[in-house]
Amino acid sequence: MLDQATALSMQPADRMPREIAPGVFWIGDCLVQRHKGKVYHGYNAAFLVAGKTASCLVETGHPKDFPVIERHLNELFARGVPPIKYLFVTHQETPHCGGLGRVLKTYPEAILCGDVSDYHLAFPQYEHRMQWMKEGDEIDLGGRTLMAVEPVIRDLRTTWWAFDTKERVLFPGDGFAYSHYHEDGHCGLVAEEAVSLDLPDVSSTFADLALFWTKFADMNVYCDRLDQLIARLGVKTIAPTHGLPITDVKATVPKVQQGLKAAALMPESGTNEKVAPAA
Ligand SMILES: [Zn+2]
Ligand SMILES: [Zn+2]
Repeated sequence: MLDQATALSMQPADRMPREIAPGVFWIGDCLVQRHKGKVYHGYNAAFLVAGKTASCLVETGHPKDFPVIERHLNELFARGVPPIKYLFVTHQETPHCGGLGRVLKTYPEAILCGDVSDYHLAFPQYEHRMQWMKEGDEIDLGGRTLMAVEPVIRDLRTTWWAFDTKERVLFPGDGFAYSHYHEDGHCGLVAEEAVSLDLPDVSSTFADLALFWTKFADMNVYCDRLDQLIARLGVKTIAPTHGLPITDVKATVPKVQQGLKAAALMPESGTNEKVAPAA
């Protein structure tokens, strides 16, 4: 596994694929977003969970990242990672599932799983390769399983989170979503390595852009529920689609929760750069 000193000495693009827990690989690239006059980076990450006999791709990545993701996957296969037998997507939104047609075409053995509502309308030719999952359902990768678990912070009604039962890695989709600063060299780092990351600031930026409902909900209730889920499952690592992976749950989760609570209290600032009115 890539250690911290080595990760920090590398160029961001070369830090991926990065093994964040044994057999769990982080792949993809950053997405540049302009917000409040600053340049933030967001992730639209994908992860490969490798069992003894099969691998599961979690999320498909942002469409602009498909070539990078294919390169990362090919690197992993060359290292002996088993072929993709499953594709789990957390919900029906482009940065999460936008590549599913491409993945099902490229890997003809792959089965799409999760809440598979409506995908057959776009891809009727793959309907027989779509497998419904509900909470507690597991897919077997050989020596480890991936389980559908309660999606505490969700974007759509159809969202499921996934959980790797072997290394206790939680894949929370839009949960734990926040941006990072390219200038600080945070790209490709786990949350605990990005020491200058201002979690309340970057969490509130993301809430403004993507999780608008958090402005109208009591986030204390959601944070308590998150604590319950993490304790019940014994989560050791968190692999969010839009945030840096969390490898010290006890130390970092409270900071993200503080960010969520702070963001909920901030007034809405709009989702785009405003164009100055003509004089
Ligand atoms: Zn998302
Ligand atoms: Zn970045």
